Amino acid sequence: MSRRLPVNQGLYTRGGIITERDPDYCIVRLRMPAGMVTPEQIQGIGAIASKYGVEKIHLTTRQTVELPHVDPSRIEDLVDDLEKNGTPLGAEREEVVNITACLGTRHCKFANIDSIALAEEIDTRFFGKELPIKVRIAISACPNGCESERLNEIGITGIRRPIRDPGLCTGCGTCIHYCREKAIIVEDGIIVLNKGKCMECGFCILPCPFGILKGEDPAYRITVGGHRGRHPKIGRHLITVKSTEDVIQVVDRVIYWIHRQASSGSLLPEQLDELEFEEFRKTIQTLIPEELPVPGSVQVG
Ligand code: SF4
Ligand code: SF4
Ligand code: SF4
Repeated sequence: MSRRLPVNQGLYTRGGIITERDPDYCIVRLRMPAGMVTPEQIQGIGAIASKYGVEKIHLTTRQTVELPHVDPSRIEDLVDDLEKNGTPLGAEREEVVNITACLGTRHCKFANIDSIALAEEIDTRFFGKELPIKVRIAISACPNGCESERLNEIGITGIRRPIRDPGLCTGCGTCIHYCREKAIIVEDGIIVLNKGKCMECGFCILPCPFGILKGEDPAYRITVGGHRGRHPKIGRHLITVKSTEDVIQVVDRVIYWIHRQASSGSLLPEQLDELEFEEFRKTIQTLIPEELPVPGSVQVG
């Protein structure tokens, strides 16, 4: 025998409330961009979970938390309490779901960009936007890819291209030691970069003992059409841009393109060719031209 259905059916159909295996209960998922939460909010979530009879909290792969086994008749009060705690209801349907990001320049020594600030900005503008398909957005602040960003519908990677002043280099080889891709060699006493191998991580820049090797300003490499799940796919490169404003503009256009042209029932990577991704890529690259290396310097090699 099922329990009485919740009074507010509209609330129950929102993305952050998921029918449980036992259909008399539901799972409540929270909105938590970049997985960042204050100690007070964590304490608040604990207190709310206890108040509504949740025995254990689940940490998800998308950097949010779920409260399992909630009585649907108490959902409205629970959602109110979560709002007051600053950790509102999340999303999981055909919409933009929780934005994930690594710790970026705030805490990671490898980072090229402030991935948390970018995740919060994207969350403010696009979270919960209804679309024909679910859209996951992830940000890694360097090509180490801790957030597996290229396995998301929209992936953003922080990069930094190495450059050196023309003619200068002692050929000491320190930067070669720090390059995991074996992308740098010394020729005639000067380093040369194999651009095909370079991942633009920027890890070779700081260790140069003479400060000869510098970097371009950090940039944002954006991929589209990645996916985890049953049939994992790596996203295709769309564009590399130099500012968060450009990232927001590109994400806005990708979301608009998905909204207008994608269809429900199949995943984005399966639709990319039908959606004429290459045409879309050319359009984006015309609107937001990729920038060249800093004038007066040369890219390594
Ligand atoms: S992706 Fe790079 S910057 Fe981000 S946590 Fe991993 S190593 Fe650090
Ligand atoms: S930026 Fe390129 S050359 Fe420098 S460490 Fe990374 S992969 Fe190697
Ligand atoms: S760029 Fe710097 S670290 Fe690399 S070989 Fe030249 S002097 Fe040495």
